[in-house]
Order: sequence, then structure tokens, then C-alpha cells
Amino acid sequence: MVVADPQQIRSIIFDLDGTLYVSPEVAHQIEAIGDELAAATRGVSLEEGRALLRGARRRLAETYEEEPTLSRTLMEMGIEISDFHRAMQEKVTPERFLQHDPVLFALLDSLRDNCELYIYTNNNLPLARKILALLGVEELFSRLYTIEFGWQPKPDQNVLERILEDIGGPRESFLFVGDRHNIDLRLADSFGIPTLLVSETADLLQIHKVLGILP
Ligand SMILES: [Mg+2]
Repeated sequence: MVVADPQQIRSIIFDLDGTLYVSPEVAHQIEAIGDELAAATRGVSLEEGRALLRGARRRLAETYEEEPTLSRTLMEMGIEISDFHRAMQEKVTPERFLQHDPVLFALLDSLRDNCELYIYTNNNLPLARKILALLGVEELFSRLYTIEFGWQPKPDQNVLERILEDIGGPRESFLFVGDRHNIDLRLADSFGIPTLLVSETADLLQIHKVLGILP
């Protein structure tokens, strides 16, 4: 990634799941809720629900030539996004799998000399807060933009524009960081905003290189 002028970056917007932590267990719990909702909505077995969801996801992927999010797939199946998030709050138990991450804390904290930090996630506010608290990094973020901010999952141009306006500043003053290009970064990139793709939390060290600072 080439950033025209790293000195101008003032606001770093992080995706949450898969970006600030990686947990196959939490990801699996979320996927399982999708299967259950698909099954319950159509009045079929869990197995059939899973197959329906998989089919819907494949059709969306073929239509838009990119892997859709679980949120978008469920919406496409006529499932209310609020029902999905209610089930997530009841059934996802990150406290079983996540713990304080002092390395992550130090890494993020060192960015705050120059920048404000934000979260932009398709997750909901109660669960996002819980996850950040479990990781021990909750206090580092100026604001959390969760699904409640517009009820439209990423990628969504309208919501993205509202976030940029809410934070304020020229486009060169933002940096978007996420683990899925199409979902977290592509729209921002099309706006001329710097982006950074990470595949594990260790990759977050790249931000310091981008900004030209020592972690
Ligand atoms: Mg993610």
C-alpha cells in the first residue's frame, strides 16, 4: 500500500472480528447462529437450514462476484438483521475464548500519540464492547461504529459517508484497517482513502511502518 502522506493520518478505523483478534471458535458460534436462523425461518432442520444458507451465499457470490457477509446473506433470505443480532447477544460467548492481549494494547496505544482510533464493525454494540473489554483495549477507542449505526452491514456507502462526516477531516487523514478487502476496505479505497489489509494481529505492526513511527 502506498500512502501519499502518512503525516496527514489522524483517524484510524479498525474492523473488529478477524482484525483485532482471530478466534475460530467465536467465528464458528456466529456461523452456527446463521444456520439456526435459516432453519427456524424456513421451518426446516438445522442441516437443511445450513444448506439453504450455503446456497444463498453461493448465489450472492456469483451475482456480485465476491463473497457476501453473513449479515448480507441472511438479509437476502428475508431474515431481520435485528433478529440475527439478538441471537448473537444471547448465544455468542467470547468470554470463553478471548483474553487480555497486552501486545495488542501496547501496539494500539502507541498509535494514539498521532491518531484517534475507531472501530467500524458489522457486529453489534453490546458484543463489540464485550470483545474489546475481554481483549483489554476498550478504553483506546474514541467511538465504536457498530451495526446500530444505520443497521446496514459493511460494505455500505451511505454509512461510510456518515462515519467520515461524523469523525471529520480530509480523506487523506483516514486509514482503514481490516481483514477482508471487499468488506472493510474496497469502498474506502475507491474514495481515495488509505487502507491496510491484515490477516493476523501481528500484521497490525504494519501500521507503524505506514505512519513511519516505531511501535
Ligand atoms: Mg473482519
